[in-house]
Amino acid sequence: MKGFVFHGPGTSAWEDVAEPDLKDPADVVVRVETTSICGTDLHILQGDVPEVAAGTVLGHEAVGEIVETGREVRTVRPGDRVLVSCISACGRCRYCREGTYGQCRGGGGWLLGNRIDGAQAEYVRVPFADHSVHLLPGAVDSQDAVLFADTFPTGYEVGVLNGSVRPGDTVAVVGAGPVGLAAIVTARLYSPDRIIAVDRLPGRLESAARFGADARVLASDEPEQLVEDLTDGLGADVTIEAVGIPETFEMCTRMVRPGGHVANVGVHGKPAALHLEDLWLKDLTIRTGLVDTSSVPMLLSMLNAGRLTTSPMITHVFELEAMEEAYEVFAGAEDTGALKIALRGPQ
Ligand code: NAD
Ligand code: ZN
Repeated sequence: MKGFVFHGPGTSAWEDVAEPDLKDPADVVVRVETTSICGTDLHILQGDVPEVAAGTVLGHEAVGEIVETGREVRTVRPGDRVLVSCISACGRCRYCREGTYGQCRGGGGWLLGNRIDGAQAEYVRVPFADHSVHLLPGAVDSQDAVLFADTFPTGYEVGVLNGSVRPGDTVAVVGAGPVGLAAIVTARLYSPDRIIAVDRLPGRLESAARFGADARVLASDEPEQLVEDLTDGLGADVTIEAVGIPETFEMCTRMVRPGGHVANVGVHGKPAALHLEDLWLKDLTIRTGLVDTSSVPMLLSMLNAGRLTTSPMITHVFELEAMEEAYEVFAGAEDTGALKIALRGPQ
C-alpha cells in the first residue's frame, strides 16, 4: 500500500510501505476513507517534534471502514464505519477512567503518526480500539466527521471547557485557524453574549465571521482596546489562545477580566512569560492541556443532529495519491486560503 512517510526534517514522500497487521488483541485495522493534515504534521516535518522517528507514516485524523479486529475488541466489527481519534486510550488506567485520555498511562496517548504509523495511508492500525475509534452515526459525512478526530475536540475541550464558557459571557478567541474556529462554533453552544475573534490575517477573520464570531479584529488593530470598549473596561470573561506564541498568550492574560478564565490551546515552541507580578491581583484561572477526545461521542451526535457547523472548514479535497500536493497547499495556507484539507481514498 502507499503511505506518507517522514524521513527526517525536510524530507518526506508518498511511497510504498508495508500494509499494517494486528499486533495486539485490542487492535483494529481501518481502511482509510478520508484523512486530513494537521498543523502539527508541519511541525513534525520541520523537525520540531523530535520523538517522531524517521520512517514513520504521519497522520492522526481519519475516517474509515474496519477491515480486521483483534479478539478482545468489543465495540466494532469489520464493515463498521468509524472515526479514528487522534488519541488512543487504554481505557483502564486512572486517567482513562476519568476521561483524560491524553494522559493515558496504559500505553495510549498520542500514538498515531507520532510513536507509531499513522493515518495518512491506505490502511492504519489503531491500538486500544474500544476507546480509540467511534462508530459514525448513520448520516454523518466522512468529510465532516474527520474534523472530529482532533480539530473540534481540541477547540471544545481545551478551549471552551477549560475556559468554562457560560451563558452571557464575552469570549475572545485569539487565532482563527481551524482550532480557533472550532472553539468559536462550540462556544456558541453555551449561549455567550458575544464572541470576539482576533487574528493577524483578514481572510481568517472572514472565516471567523462565517463560523459565528460576533466581532472580529486584526491583531495589529488594538484588540485589547476593542475588548475593553465592548466590556465597559472589564475585559473578556474567557480568553482562548489558539495560536501558540508568547505574544498571544500574554495578550490573553491581559485581555481577560479579573476573575476570568484563560484557556491556552496553542502548542508553544518557545517559553511564554507568566507575569505573576501583575497577575496575582487578578484572580485568574489559567488552564492548558492536550486534547483528550473524550467529547467525541457527544460532538458526533450533535453533528448528526445538525447542531454544529462544520462544512466550510474543508476548503480543499484531494485524492489520497495527491498527498504531497495537498501538503504544499496546506503549508501555503496564507496564499491558498486552506483551512482543512480532506484526502479521500475509495469511499
Ligand atoms: P493555525 O496555524 O491554522 O492557526 C493559527 C492562527 O493564528 C492562524 O489563523 C494565524 O493567522 C493566527 N495568528 C498567527 N500569529 C498571530 C498573532 N500574532 N495574533 C493573532 N493571530 C495570529 O493552527 P490550528 O490548526 O488552528 O491550531 C492552533 C493551535 O492549536 C496550534 O498551536 C496547534 O499546534 C494547537 N493545537 C493544540 C492541541 C492541544 O491538544 N492542545 C491540539 C491540536 C492543535
Ligand atoms: Zn489509559
